[in-house]
Amino acid sequence: MIPLVNLPGQYKKIKKEILEQIEVVLESCSFIQGEFVSEFENKFASMHEANFGSGCSNGTSAIHLALQALGVKLGDEVITVPNTFFATAEAILHAGAKPVFVDIDSNTHNMDVSQIEAAITDRTRAIMPVHLYGNPADMAPLMNIAKRYGLFVIEDCAQAHLAKYRGQYVGTFGDAATFSFYPGKNLGAYGDAGFVFTRSRAHEAVVRKLLDHGRMSKYEHDMVGYNYRMDEIQAAVLLVKLSYLRKWTEIRRKNAEKYKSLISQTGVSIVQSIEGTESAHHLFVLEVSNRLEVMDYMKSKGVGTSIHYPVPLHLQPALAYLGHKTGDFPVSEAAAQRVLSLPLCAELTEGQVEFISQEFLKIVRP
Ligand SMILES: *Cc1c(COP(=O)(O)O)cnc(C)c1O
Repeated sequence: MIPLVNLPGQYKKIKKEILEQIEVVLESCSFIQGEFVSEFENKFASMHEANFGSGCSNGTSAIHLALQALGVKLGDEVITVPNTFFATAEAILHAGAKPVFVDIDSNTHNMDVSQIEAAITDRTRAIMPVHLYGNPADMAPLMNIAKRYGLFVIEDCAQAHLAKYRGQYVGTFGDAATFSFYPGKNLGAYGDAGFVFTRSRAHEAVVRKLLDHGRMSKYEHDMVGYNYRMDEIQAAVLLVKLSYLRKWTEIRRKNAEKYKSLISQTGVSIVQSIEGTESAHHLFVLEVSNRLEVMDYMKSKGVGTSIHYPVPLHLQPALAYLGHKTGDFPVSEAAAQRVLSLPLCAELTEGQVEFISQEFLKIVRP
């Protein structure tokens, strides 16, 4: 069996270090706000050359914190894409704002920046690009628009650890950026965890306060915040894994290149990266017209596949009250019908990539 992501295989390789570090936390009995979280915060932020970074409880709370720290509130609008995980819009709604969607580009499946301006109103406060599948969104034109209209930019980097756009790490372009360490992400905790980058010290201070009950001191609160803290066991696990992240990202890249070399001449369309970017290769996503058939066949060969994502956000039942209908974002809708993810992780071998590609090409219809 070749799973989409081989977490047991990864654990086997790092088990000794992980257990040692978890034991240190258990022995210390310091589970919240100890040294591991601070050390991880420093290392993760500096690895990305980010100004400030705070650990938090998950990638969804990270987005909520970033929005609220920037002052996004009830009645505001935040521009994002329909082709993402539900949490992107959910967190915008948690902040009291309304997600306003713009369609995606058919080659990159990321925000079509040429459509942003038409979506701006006098209520727009922020643009939230998602670096989906680890592929950087087109940040240069996006930042120009944000500057011209005085809008904040918050990058959803949940899938894009260590990805680069024109030599610069994603997450360092906007006013804030958010990461997820959900177990299946490129850097995964053993539970839930997340991260917020901020560009300014003032925003950083608000993020830190909000994620810890709006505390000034232990029992004095000058803001109503949340319990959105990262815990020490997760930070200890993440610190062990962080030392492998560059190497793992490099193996993901090699595996993705291998897939491309085997599949790209066959007429099957693969989601593209834009020039001058280095993807984090979170997922290997292509478009097929006989998806169910491919998935069944691959399953019969012991290969896991998945769909990221089958329902664009504007057509999610929970968001029906936003009033969208089929046809509003045709590129996202077409992608949702056709996308398929093949296994991609650092544990995947070259031989497995060859086997998966061979079997995939036997059944796929472009
Ligand atoms: C995973 C993910 C999130 C949410 O992260 P959690 O840690 O699961 O809360 C948000 N946005 C995107 C694009 C994601 O992939």
